[in-house]
Amino acid sequence: MKRLGILTSGGDAPGMNAAIRAAVRTATRLGVQMVGYLDGYSGLVRGAFVELDDRAVGNIIQRGGTILGTSRCPEFLDSEVRAQAANQMKLDGIDGLIVIGGDGSFRGALALQDECGVAVAGLPGTIDNDVWGTEESIGFDTAVNTALLAIDQLRDTGESTGMMFFVEVMGRTSGAIALHTAVAGGAAGVVVPEAHAEIDLVIERIRETMAKGKRSHIIVVAEGDEAGGAFGVAPIIGKALDRPYRVVVLGHTQRGGRPTMRDRLVASEGGAMAVEALVAGRTGVMIGRQGGRSVEVNLRDVVKNGHPPVNTDLLRLAQQLSG
Ligand code: ADP
Repeated sequence: MKRLGILTSGGDAPGMNAAIRAAVRTATRLGVQMVGYLDGYSGLVRGAFVELDDRAVGNIIQRGGTILGTSRCPEFLDSEVRAQAANQMKLDGIDGLIVIGGDGSFRGALALQDECGVAVAGLPGTIDNDVWGTEESIGFDTAVNTALLAIDQLRDTGESTGMMFFVEVMGRTSGAIALHTAVAGGAAGVVVPEAHAEIDLVIERIRETMAKGKRSHIIVVAEGDEAGGAFGVAPIIGKALDRPYRVVVLGHTQRGGRPTMRDRLVASEGGAMAVEALVAGRTGVMIGRQGGRSVEVNLRDVVKNGHPPVNTDLLRLAQQLSG
């Protein structure tokens, strides 16, 4: 390996920059050059890249977003386009590719490896934490902390006024952000796409706590819940309890902001290990977190298994602790 490429793909996530920095600086130590493709697979297809050296990635560890830009690139679903991209990589002397993104991005990376023989390594970068084979993806911790900040602020006004708040957090198909935010934020209830049916339990539980004199109720709702996110869930619960309520949608605020220590650490270890794997000739791996450590996971297993199941222990805990 003489020259590697790196790109960020799919949704952006805080900590992606820390991963780019770690990858570039590890490559330098190993005598390997690194280029950064712009805007995900779209830059790979266009052959649009910038040379990255140690100085190019200075002062970015603390910045949210991604200095390389990211995008969705539907053309990359076409195998002819992938072959073209691989060919261009060869002409530019680029031997391997690190892809930071979610499971969709990894499908693209694996196809590139299987069809065109490009050496690839994946780093899970998505606020949704919905990638199989890792306990945490880059950006998840920051997104949950951003949601927590909003919840703590809503608690103050909720306690003063007796208002009920429905807080919508991100997660189109995954309730991971909602569950973690609900438990850590001490929410009165949580509604996630994987367990929509439990909405009746939430109503019952809040009725009990109201009877005990609880004034302030925060219900965390994942945007992808089948009722239509918080605007869909709020009238159902609000009507059942006959209480005034407000809906707060946190939306893209959860994507931005300075990455937390955890995200910087996970990204730094992952970026370094992805380069080390490729340089040692190990391809088709993802650097995941298991048992609190960064480990190499088979990328094919990640893609094959799809989204991990919802953490039912956390769901139970959220219900159990509302009182
Ligand atoms: P994420 O990586 O966060 O899951 P997406 O699912 O939007 O986000 O995927 C990001 C990009 O990865 C897509 O825009 C596309 O370029 C590429 N991609 C996704 N699925 C595939 C696939 N099955 N084959 C090839 N490329 C894919």
